[in-house]
Amino acid sequence: MHVVIGSISHETNTFSNVPTGLDKFRENLYLGQDIVKAFKGKHAIASAFIQVAEEEGFDLIPTLWASATPSGLVKDEAFNHLLSKMIQPIESAEKVDGVLLHLHGAMVTQSIDDPEGEILEAVRGVVGHEVPVISTLDLHANIAERMVREADVLVGYDTYPHVDRFDRGIEAAGLMAEILGGRLKPTMAMKKPPMIVSPQRQKTNYYPMNALINLAHEMETDENIVNVTVSGGYPFADLEFTGMTMVVTTNNRQDVAQEKADNLAALAWKIRRDFLADVIPPKEAVAEATVTQGGPVVLADHADNPGGGAPCDGTVILQTLLELGVENAVLAVMADPEAVNKMVKAGVGKALTLNLGGRTDTLHGPPIHVMGTVKLISDGNFLPLGPMSSGLESNMGRTVVFTCQGVDVIVTEKRLQPTDLELYRSVGIEPTRKKIIVVKSAVHFRASHEPIAKKIIEVDTPGIHSSRLSAFQYKKLRRPIFPLDVEMLGIAELKKSLTD
Ligand SMILES: [Zn+2]
Repeated sequence: MHVVIGSISHETNTFSNVPTGLDKFRENLYLGQDIVKAFKGKHAIASAFIQVAEEEGFDLIPTLWASATPSGLVKDEAFNHLLSKMIQPIESAEKVDGVLLHLHGAMVTQSIDDPEGEILEAVRGVVGHEVPVISTLDLHANIAERMVREADVLVGYDTYPHVDRFDRGIEAAGLMAEILGGRLKPTMAMKKPPMIVSPQRQKTNYYPMNALINLAHEMETDENIVNVTVSGGYPFADLEFTGMTMVVTTNNRQDVAQEKADNLAALAWKIRRDFLADVIPPKEAVAEATVTQGGPVVLADHADNPGGGAPCDGTVILQTLLELGVENAVLAVMADPEAVNKMVKAGVGKALTLNLGGRTDTLHGPPIHVMGTVKLISDGNFLPLGPMSSGLESNMGRTVVFTCQGVDVIVTEKRLQPTDLELYRSVGIEPTRKKIIVVKSAVHFRASHEPIAKKIIEVDTPGIHSSRLSAFQYKKLRRPIFPLDVEMLGIAELKKSLTD
């Protein structure tokens, strides 16, 4: 059996002022057999596809595997180029029996709101309707109808932090084997409750998101059910269809698929108020951290999460730490290539006064004028060992530990979400010995930081990844929608439930 593998993956924050060009994808782009060379034996989705292909004896047709760090709208020319690189090998293949893709599900281009639908339609245009097309999706996919129409199965992650990417890859490729073996005839249905949910409330180990995931897993024990996907959605994309989506795949039982998707959406709607975010102002958060016995206390700057398209150069928490004179803190990371350049020129041990952060836009705090010392300079390479991306090499660009009063600021050239403790250790910082750790991350940091954290505080910082969804100016989003439209808050229903 000849099976295509490919991926074009991006999470696009339409509130970002930083467009995403081909250069950003080139940093993480593999073509043809280089995909197999890069991922075989590792713990990525491509690795899972390759492993199952070997077990099942598939002949792989590797096309393109490309992703870029979340940021603003993907340029049309970049998307068109990537799509053509995926389609050409499929067109020139002598025979295609199946197509296995990984698509994020929350990409937006300058002129297409559902590029994943566009990719699936383009692939379908080449292979026809008899060849199965399966895609894995991120848990933050904003799933459009076209995606469900053009794919045979969509397999979303079940975890946030996303620690099950490899497992979902194995699942998707296993379903391909079932279809090609004639044992499975997938039918899919979707349902969207009228809700958008902040990533902060999509943590799958916690209520309320775990209530949906648990129900999904319970549904999957039914022999008719092939896969149940609960996509939390990515609220920082202003699109008509943005938001939570339930997708259920059955073995040739369209009625059951729709019924289960409807049931899941009904539960989400019933507990919608529990999805409202809860955050603490920066000064209160830092004060609480300093009076906490022991450590480390992790302060999550979720509004400036580069993993959700934010600039990663916000200054609000750093400013607060300096004002309150905290000791033994570390901030991971401040992306500021201009500052890195000055610090590297100055050299290790040198004192320096300069502007730091706040360069990308005016939404994450202004640049702050700081005095500090260059403690260490690194090439920014490290090997993650934690549950998120173990064994997949990571790079921050040139990186400097810049010590300002009691704060070690890890200043980097690249934007990077601190998902792994090896990031700190690679620059000589032992995170378990710190009193305060500031992470520019919404939830992914938890996979490695929860085991070492005395306490985690989610801080109410400003930015384009803020949990305050009502602060965003949505223009295309369908209305009414929870929690933006007051009539949907269900006050009467809330009162009734309190008196029941
Ligand atoms: Zn995600």
